[in-house]
Amino acid sequence: MKPVCLTIAGSDTSAGAGIQADLKTFARLGCYTATVITALTAQNTCGVHSIQPVDTSFVHKQLEAVLNDMPVSLVKIGMLPNQDILKLIADLLTPLKIPIVLDPVLISSSGAALFDLHGIDAYRQYLVPICSLLTPNRKEAALLTGTKLQSDSDLFEMGNVLLRDGAPHVLITGGDRPGIIKQDCLLSKDGENNIKTSWFKHRHIETNNSHGTGCTLSSAIAANMAKGLDIHSATEQGITFTANLLASSIDFQTGKGCGGLDHFPD
Ligand code: PLP
Repeated sequence: MKPVCLTIAGSDTSAGAGIQADLKTFARLGCYTATVITALTAQNTCGVHSIQPVDTSFVHKQLEAVLNDMPVSLVKIGMLPNQDILKLIADLLTPLKIPIVLDPVLISSSGAALFDLHGIDAYRQYLVPICSLLTPNRKEAALLTGTKLQSDSDLFEMGNVLLRDGAPHVLITGGDRPGIIKQDCLLSKDGENNIKTSWFKHRHIETNNSHGTGCTLSSAIAANMAKGLDIHSATEQGITFTANLLASSIDFQTGKGCGGLDHFPD
């Protein structure tokens, strides 16, 4: 039987990122996925034009409709436009003890704020402690921890702060790292508070079509977890899946700007 997952995220009209990227990734990897939409965005491959948060009470209704009926085995969280929606989701998910993959979507690659950054502490207070895996990129990890990123060793310190907040696993992705070698860093804490660090290295892929790579990666890892892989293997295979899609999507043209990935290459 296919696992039933749930993605809680924003809609991207260009379908490169957000709930649309999540759905394509989960489907490609063999999971059925319900959706709760937290925000509508008007955007295309050239940038984000406008953001309309969904009413918190309607997010509540969507979540109840899914959770009261469907056997959700894993939740993936992406864009949450504000602190009210974030707190509502934390309140409803905390008692359920379902594995959660949290992608703290804060700023788009084109520079648009996708979360009201005044409420950033709410991430660490309410959501980080209940997630199984947190997948910030380097900038998001720096924003969440209030740290200035100067070198790779700072990643270790940021990851530790987030582990201390209660996430058992933190993957800091390095797609924006300068240079030809990209490194993603997975920090994991065992029951005795020992910390294990794994580095996943891959070559830089020169492409204009990288929009939604973070959503795709976190969904791929989530889908692998829902199918029973441990977090280390789910991460390793999710990174390979996403890197292969990036490489095969170089010539995929969906608009005039920075396009998304072709999740179903011919
Ligand atoms: N729009 C939505 C709804 C998203 O969820 C995201 C990322 O998660 C983005 C835009 C930004 O995507 P990117 O930073 O890859 O351009």
